[in-house]
Amino acid sequence: MINELDMPTVLFLQKTSYIAGALTLGYLRLTSTENRGVGLLAASFVVLAVASTLAGYAETHPALYGPLSLINVVLAVLGYSLLGLAFILISNPDRKIRIALALVPAALTLAAGIVTAFHLNNTYRASAFNFLACLTMAATAFVVFMDARREPLPIRKLVAAILAAYSLLSLTMALEFCLNSFALLDVASGFFLMILSKFVLAIAIVIFISERQHIKIRHLAERDALTGLYNRRFFNENVSKQLKNGDAILYLDIDHFKQLNDRWGHSAGDEVLAKMAQAVQSILPPTVLFGRQGGEEFIIFLPSGAGDPLLLAERVRKAVSEIRYLRLGPDVSVTASIGIARASNDRSSLLELCREADRGLYLAKAAGRNRVCDTDTDYIPENYLRMG
Ligand code: GH3
Ligand code: MG
Ligand code: MG
Repeated sequence: MINELDMPTVLFLQKTSYIAGALTLGYLRLTSTENRGVGLLAASFVVLAVASTLAGYAETHPALYGPLSLINVVLAVLGYSLLGLAFILISNPDRKIRIALALVPAALTLAAGIVTAFHLNNTYRASAFNFLACLTMAATAFVVFMDARREPLPIRKLVAAILAAYSLLSLTMALEFCLNSFALLDVASGFFLMILSKFVLAIAIVIFISERQHIKIRHLAERDALTGLYNRRFFNENVSKQLKNGDAILYLDIDHFKQLNDRWGHSAGDEVLAKMAQAVQSILPPTVLFGRQGGEEFIIFLPSGAGDPLLLAERVRKAVSEIRYLRLGPDVSVTASIGIARASNDRSSLLELCREADRGLYLAKAAGRNRVCDTDTDYIPENYLRMG
């Protein structure tokens, strides 16, 4: 089918593909909240559409061939630079990039054209442009691929692969133009494959943004905004599904937290909650689920086989008491009380476990706070100092 395509059809297809891509991406830019780089990608498609139109004019208006072909190649280089920067920005929206950088290769191409008039020679113009496209796409593919360490979206590798394939395609075209052989790829087939790749890239980017938003929405639905821990709904749903005999629930409540708020203010209280959550999370085994129940109350799910609940509770209690909040003062610390409940035939629902753990917590508070109460083993140290 590719062999049946003539050049005017291919050029027409190229223009319409750019316009369709620009419209899709423009729509995405307007409707999505995650849009850094998407507008730039739409802009790059518009620049490439203009460059493609000028290429057509240059062929049909011989008197204007010189200036039109120069503007064409300069705009095409600008379009690819914008395209590369757009992908790099979409790949990691926190990246600081000067968009003006995209003007540098275009300005150099313009200067080279004015000085050497290389653009008047079809072979030079086409091979130089395709070599530049090859380098830009290879660099972009590399950045998009490497960003997987920061954000491993499933579609990311596919986008990097399409960009790498595009880079190879540009290299093949550059060599074909350079050697004037067209043994591997004729011009029409090369253009056709490039158009196809850009369509696929535009669709892949729409999927990329939607995957990213999906993950963000799931995070918002499952996590507590202040501490980043699982929220009560997610924790309860997940633990209820997997609860079995021998699993344990630990209820943790910070001691005299109201006093801390009253003395240092609510933002200091928030800071303590976030820092404490992070510190406790860092000492928990990977199979343990840690959530915020609300306020200064936290819940830990310890599956059977993941360790002794009492030992873990004591480790957590000790870790909490050792955290220092230097911004509030050199000696500021908080303590926590913890209640434990184990799942058994008589106590098999999460609700029953929580009730029992809450009872243990109440007893720990009543016994003087900063201690663990395990009602199953009657473990309530009466005197914290005696425990050491
Ligand atoms: P106890 O040792 O008996 O647990 O005493 P407490 O002061 O920790 O418990 P109390 O239930 O009297 O007070 C809990 C306080 O936690 C009251 C509330 O203002 C505060 N609190 C709840 N949620 C938040 C929050 O998200 N941020 C801050 N800074 N404070 C919170
Ligand atoms: Mg409390
Ligand atoms: Mg409380």
